Amino acid sequence: MTPDEFRRAGHAVVDWIADYWATLERRPVTSPDPPGALAAALPAGPTEHGEPVDAVLADLDALVAPRLTHWQHPGFFGYFPANTSGPSVLGDLVSSGLGVQGMLWATGPAATELETAMLDWLADLLDLPKRFRSTGSGGGVIQDSASSATLVATLAALHRAGGGRWRRAGVDRRYRVYASTQAHSSVEKAALIAGLGEQGVRPVEVDPETLAMDPAALRAAIEADLAAGEVPALVVATIGTTSTTAVDPLPEIGAICAEHGVWLHVDAAYAGAAAVCPELRWSHAGLEYADSYCFDPHKWLLTGFDCDAFWVADRASLIEALTVLPEYLRNAASESGAVIDYRDWQVPLGRRFRALKLWFVLRWYGVEGLRTHIRTGVALADRFADRVRADERFELAAAHPFSLVCFRLQAGDEASARLLARVNATGRVHLTQTRVSGRYTLRLAVGSPFTTQTHVDEAWELLSAAADEE
Ligand SMILES: *Cc1c(COP(=O)(O)O)cnc(C)c1O
Repeated sequence: MTPDEFRRAGHAVVDWIADYWATLERRPVTSPDPPGALAAALPAGPTEHGEPVDAVLADLDALVAPRLTHWQHPGFFGYFPANTSGPSVLGDLVSSGLGVQGMLWATGPAATELETAMLDWLADLLDLPKRFRSTGSGGGVIQDSASSATLVATLAALHRAGGGRWRRAGVDRRYRVYASTQAHSSVEKAALIAGLGEQGVRPVEVDPETLAMDPAALRAAIEADLAAGEVPALVVATIGTTSTTAVDPLPEIGAICAEHGVWLHVDAAYAGAAAVCPELRWSHAGLEYADSYCFDPHKWLLTGFDCDAFWVADRASLIEALTVLPEYLRNAASESGAVIDYRDWQVPLGRRFRALKLWFVLRWYGVEGLRTHIRTGVALADRFADRVRADERFELAAAHPFSLVCFRLQAGDEASARLLARVNATGRVHLTQTRVSGRYTLRLAVGSPFTTQTHVDEAWELLSAAADEE
């Protein structure tokens, strides 16, 4: 493809995306087709002779788009949002065009330096503790996901807990990781990958009202393990749990970690974005205790997947844990000690130039635009929660400090499950479910930049009408 052919086809692709966004609202949010429908529609293999991009776009329209779950749809309220936006897509396009592999500073100096700058900007934007800045002992890096952030935090914590023995001799099976029963499954996965086994993870009880970690239960678990000769290595606290957006009490948890020298990782995958708004920063109180912290701009901050922002207070622990230096990667800049080589901050060697999409997003929206996006989501969730509260057939199942509302029918689990199936079958909205204290609960998460009051009101009308059928 020559640059001129690329120019023509590229314009057509950008038009295709713009048309997709403009027509999203008219599409059903999820596909009604059974499994295997796309596979059956595809040819058995590639064509012998090349085809124009127009032919691919035609098949995107005919075959692929109708069989998607449309995450950017204004009626998509499932899971947590996975925002994208025009500036994010354009930044990613530039990154693809550059094709830079930024594993070392030397293999893409601007890719590394822009990433460091963007993570420092983001740290300012969220008002994170000073020690996470690259100008001090810490620093930030983009991971593909919060799951990877938890994994590298686990490895750094094991390294620190063992005073370097972990690197030489492998995992000590006495290390223990603590997280609440509401923590994300990635905590257990990280412990499994790190070789600790399921027995290495201690689930800590939560307060039955707030669903946040009970600090007394954490203290008891750590002290019991210490008495048994085990080694508490890591506590993972959550700001905004996946099920209900509960906020673990960092001031108490942090004090316990400090007392016992345990690494504190804070997982704010979805709710971290809220801290761009000063009035929502209460959720980050106590973060000064954290050794590491992450949130996903790819969830609620208008940046397309994948983009997890991860910070450490002491970058040396992370780098010492992960660095392996073969001859073919040696270079003068690395040896000078004056540069960051992000390959030592993550699991893979290679890395995309993901800071570009953040740069495009931060510049296009500005602080003001980002705050407006978060505030809109919170206000729409409040509006929806008011409807639920005012209707005696329904009840709220948890607090809704951000843009997720958990609710259910008073009539019980089966009625609530039928309600979810009925509203999702309309194709106008998509909600998902969880269990709160054992009870079936619907989740409505607001976050698409295309979602307005009209869409949230429509979701409520559909739910209310479906509830009439109970
Ligand atoms: C979504 C979520 C994750 C996982 O996010 P990925 O970036 O997809 O790995 C981790 N923790 C919490 C609290 C989450 O809500």
